[in-house]
Amino acid sequence: MKTAAILVTGGVGFVGSHFVRAATDEGRRVIILDDLSGMGLATNDATPQLAIPDGAALVRGDIGDEALIESLCRQHSVSSLVHFAGKIQVGESVRKPELYFDHNVNRSLRLLDTVREMGVRDVVFSSTAAVYGEPKTVPIPETAQTAPVNPYGCSKLAFEWILQSYAVAHGLRYAALRYFNAAGAHPDGTLSERHDPETHLVPLVIDAGRGRRPPLTVFGTDYPTPDGTCVRDYIHVCDLASAHLLALDQLAQGSSLGALNLGTGRGYSVRQVLEAAQDVLGAPIPHTVGSRRDGDPPALVADSSAAQRRLGWQPKRSELKTLIEDAARSRA
Ligand code: UDP
Repeated sequence: MKTAAILVTGGVGFVGSHFVRAATDEGRRVIILDDLSGMGLATNDATPQLAIPDGAALVRGDIGDEALIESLCRQHSVSSLVHFAGKIQVGESVRKPELYFDHNVNRSLRLLDTVREMGVRDVVFSSTAAVYGEPKTVPIPETAQTAPVNPYGCSKLAFEWILQSYAVAHGLRYAALRYFNAAGAHPDGTLSERHDPETHLVPLVIDAGRGRRPPLTVFGTDYPTPDGTCVRDYIHVCDLASAHLLALDQLAQGSSLGALNLGTGRGYSVRQVLEAAQDVLGAPIPHTVGSRRDGDPPALVADSSAAQRRLGWQPKRSELKTLIEDAARSRA
């Protein structure tokens, strides 16, 4: 009999691809379901050659395609779901909320119902610190009020509520992992953060430092933070990947985990990121100062003690310099 497989939606994306790598490195069998839209491809564009690790197979398709999900579950004895696929741009979510509720709630619910009907009990969901909105205090524990300030955060929180309700009604075991600022890359340089368009600070800083982009705009220097720029909790993508594997193991042992924050508990300002990148690249990072970006809270820092305790998880590569070195290597 074939060993059971993990169905990984969005396994070609930034966090998803690092998870697939970590899972297959441990000898787990993975079926990736991805529509490649994160690479900027439309449904009828040709599928490019992608490096998929041994032990994983890529199926190009839609998470809301019930017939496809059903046949994947049957064919590969899927035993658990790790759900990364989703829309992730805050600004776009404000302009096109229908897209966010369609992908992150509607289609995700069809996916969940289908895998559940096929006997899948364990689900790890890619959630976000955006569910907290503008927190009153940092570091933020999971018990803090959830009050998202944009449709992206609302859609992620809505799916968390679905998982919570299914846990009660249907015995689903789940972990909703609330990422703070995912960054870095696999240290071997073969996987990297490539969003289209790229809006995240670390890749933009590195590319600006190498002259591959125009100077970075620092979004606001008048925040109530020590140097006036926003403070974020940057967590290495490999540390995120390892937390997902630990969560799957806990679920398999019978405990549902609920929502868990994944961060380091340490915040860095935009200026501190620029300084660290300057040290790593050995050159100043060209930048200008601009106005605040809509919806940016001054500081987001995780209290991730629950994840550490319940998963036995410790970030290993999230020290800022290591994280920027890994990101820089992957963009060489
Ligand atoms: N940021 C910036 N300039 C940029 C991109 C981001 O100053 O070109 C700031 C942004 O305001 C935030 C931090 O960098 O305070 C991290 O932003 P990112 O988009 O990477 O992640 P977010 O915190 O929005 O999830």
